[in-house]
Amino acid sequence: MRAALEVCKDLDVALLTKVYPSRSHSGAAQGGIAASLGNSEDDSWEEHMFDTIKGGDYLSDQDAVEEYVKAAPNVIYELEHMGCIFSRTPDGKIAQRSFGGHSRPRACFSADRTGHAILHALHEQVMKHSRSIKVYSEWFMHSLVIEDQQCRGVVVSDVRTGAVEVIQAKAVVFATGGYGRAFQITTNAFASTADGVLAAFNSGIPLEDAEFVQFHPSGLYRQGILFSEAARGEGGYLLNGLGERFMEKYAPERMELAPRDIVARAEQSEIDAGRGVNGEDFIHLDLRHLGEARIMERLPQIRQLGIDFISVDCAKDPLPIQPTAHYSMGGIPTDKFGAVVVDAKGTRLNGFFAAGECACVSVHGANRLGTNSLLDAVVFGQRAGRSALEYAKNVASPSVNESREKTRVLSVFEDIFQREGSESYNDIRNEMKNIMTHNCGVFRDAEHLTQCIEKIQSLQVRYKKGKVTDKGRLFNTELYEIIELGNMLKMAEIISFAALARKESRGGHFRSDFPKRNDVDFLHHSLVYPTEGDGLELKTKPVVITRHQPAERTY
Ligand SMILES: Cc1cc2nc3c(=O)[nH]c(=O)nc-3n(C[C@H](O)[C@H](O)[C@H](O)COP(=O)(O)OP(=O)(O)OC[C@H]3O[C@@H](n4cnc5c(N)ncnc54)[C@H](O)[C@@H]3O)c2cc1C
Repeated sequence: MRAALEVCKDLDVALLTKVYPSRSHSGAAQGGIAASLGNSEDDSWEEHMFDTIKGGDYLSDQDAVEEYVKAAPNVIYELEHMGCIFSRTPDGKIAQRSFGGHSRPRACFSADRTGHAILHALHEQVMKHSRSIKVYSEWFMHSLVIEDQQCRGVVVSDVRTGAVEVIQAKAVVFATGGYGRAFQITTNAFASTADGVLAAFNSGIPLEDAEFVQFHPSGLYRQGILFSEAARGEGGYLLNGLGERFMEKYAPERMELAPRDIVARAEQSEIDAGRGVNGEDFIHLDLRHLGEARIMERLPQIRQLGIDFISVDCAKDPLPIQPTAHYSMGGIPTDKFGAVVVDAKGTRLNGFFAAGECACVSVHGANRLGTNSLLDAVVFGQRAGRSALEYAKNVASPSVNESREKTRVLSVFEDIFQREGSESYNDIRNEMKNIMTHNCGVFRDAEHLTQCIEKIQSLQVRYKKGKVTDKGRLFNTELYEIIELGNMLKMAEIISFAALARKESRGGHFRSDFPKRNDVDFLHHSLVYPTEGDGLELKTKPVVITRHQPAERTY
């Protein structure tokens, strides 16, 4: 939506989403959006930059990080002027709270509903510009149209009718989000299924740093639903089964506010050592000492989630939590202007842009700091929009062979409808999620990753022998779920393929068989390309280092 608002200054925009705009996963973001406003303590973009790079275990491209953190304060004021309601300090400034890995209180927030507030402010602006932004809600994007090395539109279908259409466009911006649904325990919404990254990949575009998946420390036990890091930012404790604040052992200085990769591994280590609560595989998030009034002011949604889902009131009892797949650091490679690039040299694919979680700029490197993602989506959303606008103003209208493009997608539909196999897609989906959480999760090693790839490939074979029960066209959600599953199965293979190749531990990617970071052999981004016959090929891309040389990462 931020990109669309930029483009609509001069050109018409089709804004397409498979849900309703305000139901995008961004609306679930709780804790905050980072900017060095310095409203609670002195702060500077330089410190925000360093924290981001250190948090990302030195895999971030530092030129991009610099521009991104410099842009942050104005982004917050712009959102505020659009109508986004931020929580305040007693003297009326935008309040800022602490977050993992940030050395200053830097998270601007709207209680624990920050994504909701931002998403609705942007949606209102989109509605205000309805003359030039036409919204297509509940339309599904299937593939990119690329001709003569130029992106010329997308092939889509109307979920309501099943009709397939081509949208011809001078420029296309993807903001299709992450792919956490490939894991069993995840915070992600149902729509976060890798469609966008896979559409790019299927057009020959590599995926960057796919091995880096973030596991958030505080997912609701067994369900994965997020209890925001804001709970720890406000002073919450993590306790093991012995009632110990175990973070003392893992990050003595930052304790519960170390970056997520470190806290998630600490939790999993406690659980694996039998020190979970009651010997089970969860630990406790304890907020009782904050008091009911503070919880109601700053963390009302978290309290309600506990009450609604497990009948636990966090003002009275601790919440059971475990690590949960949360965020994709990797994605479609872009430059710092939001243009998609296809190789290590930065060659652009004309007419194609990407921003937000589906893109890899890369500002987050090997591990994203909390509150840096909403910022990413807004900063690079605006930049991708601006780049798309500049490009589109100077390019001729596309002329696309629509019937050929439509036929490709219709044949995918037909293929699915005609399968008379005996395999259940639900079983395949559940097995994929289980395998990914257990073999490609917080801790990884060669043996489990090899098994993971084999199992995922065998699921891909079974997928082709699935049975569809609804063969109608109208609102056929089963069909779309099958297509999403196909995308996730491929994405799962790409994640584990890149994870197997990275024989080191860095940020969110931890290899028990290679527990140290190895800058000599692995200080590079990975690029996974599709090859003939459904294969994968790995290449690398150098990391841009400007101000901060890689150093040991302790907290
Ligand atoms: C529970 C939770 C809490 C979070 N809290 C924070 C936080 O406090 N601070 C922070 O900085 N970050 C947070 N994050 C991360 C952050 O919210 C996301 O990374 C970010 O909002 C992603 O925005 P996006 O615009 O890239 O994608 P999304 O908001 O996921 O939107 C993706 C859009 O693409 C559309 N789409 C996808 N595929 C298709 C298709 N095939 N056809 C048509 N449309 C499609 C979807 O319908 C949707 O509209 C949180 C994430 C989660 C899951």
